[in-house]
Amino acid sequence: MHITVITAFPDFLNTFFATSIVGKGVERGLLSVEVVDIRNYARGAYRQIDDYAFGGGGMLLMADPLRDALEDVQARRGKACVLGTSPQGAVLQQDMVETLAEKEHLLIVCGHYEGMDERFVQKYVDMEVSLGDYVLTGGELAAMVIADSVSRRIPGVVGKESAVEEDSFAKGFLDHPHYTRPAIWEDMPVPEELLSGDHGKILAWRRQEAVRRTLSRRPEVLGRAGILPYMSKEAYVALVLEDSTEASFPANLLERSLKLAHAYGITRICCISPHRNLRTRAGDFGGSGSFKVFGSLSRCREWIAHREKRSPLVVGMEENTPSSSAPRAHLLEIKRTLLERQLPLLLVLSGGTSEPQHQQCDYSLFPLRGGDGKPGDFAPEDRLAIILDRFFGCR
Ligand code: SAH
Repeated sequence: MHITVITAFPDFLNTFFATSIVGKGVERGLLSVEVVDIRNYARGAYRQIDDYAFGGGGMLLMADPLRDALEDVQARRGKACVLGTSPQGAVLQQDMVETLAEKEHLLIVCGHYEGMDERFVQKYVDMEVSLGDYVLTGGELAAMVIADSVSRRIPGVVGKESAVEEDSFAKGFLDHPHYTRPAIWEDMPVPEELLSGDHGKILAWRRQEAVRRTLSRRPEVLGRAGILPYMSKEAYVALVLEDSTEASFPANLLERSLKLAHAYGITRICCISPHRNLRTRAGDFGGSGSFKVFGSLSRCREWIAHREKRSPLVVGMEENTPSSSAPRAHLLEIKRTLLERQLPLLLVLSGGTSEPQHQQCDYSLFPLRGGDGKPGDFAPEDRLAIILDRFFGCR
């Protein structure tokens, strides 16, 4: 990756690239950077780069030197994704950082004074980026923040790649707290789990702390987080088979569900049916042991409660549950409840509509809605895929 910064204050950026971890990455050839001084593209006897705003107000960067600098860079370095820094831009988030890290050439333009001539922005800038809802004196700090966060995503720039994967927001959760020597500082010991040398214990402690922090500080980020590694109990999927006829055995649904559940890390899939013949077929399906079979949802629930030593949170995935059934809840609330109360999860999918089983659910999810806001015509396996992704998918 190559990063170009166009600025009226190149010393600022040169020092940053010479002294930072990003600079070390440059030295090691993991990325390259160039700081371009707008003044080299100034025109006239006074080498002017800024002028008074029409209509009154402060100074702003003129369009000509900005364009000349940008076109010169692109002629030498190839086409770039051009970022303008502005408090009015889209606020920089980890998703945006990860997207920008995929670009071959990022070109960041730093505004100053009142900003830059709007016509340059209109013609050349692909995206305006802001650090947050406050106003800085110039775009240089924003350029450094963008360059820093993006280069952190380039393999090798940060010593240990696994550290980047555990970072805040990488999987949707906040990071756990960190400690270094001494083991006791001002009478405060490091949590004993971290000194145990037991990797399983350390991982479990870190995950639990990440959950605690995320729940107390930024619970809203859970809406998009895959929670399986952070759950202290397992997640289960149950398929309710209603029809007893041999011909209507839902082999496709079973096969798809098995694959989907495995793709999202769920190994326990249950089939529930009051009909013995369906249970036998389901039990033999996909190699014996792929499905655990039960005569009713309450039996399935009991089995999980026994296995996990905790009764599971049972969540129905039906589109059309009658109003007498379980209360509706949003995904974020269900994720929060699961993590706060450290419960196992049982997701219940039934192909039919009038299934009495969902009366035994603790919650049912709101129906999935298409782009027009109306409930869509989703096949059960579609619903399963979408819901599994929302609970357990990794961005
Ligand atoms: N008049 C402008 C602010 C100009 S501040 C307005 O109110 O929108 C001068 C320059 O500092 C901007 O052109 C931009 O490059 C930079 N800047 C200021 N605040 C910023 C922020 N929150 N994020 C990114 N860049 C910022």
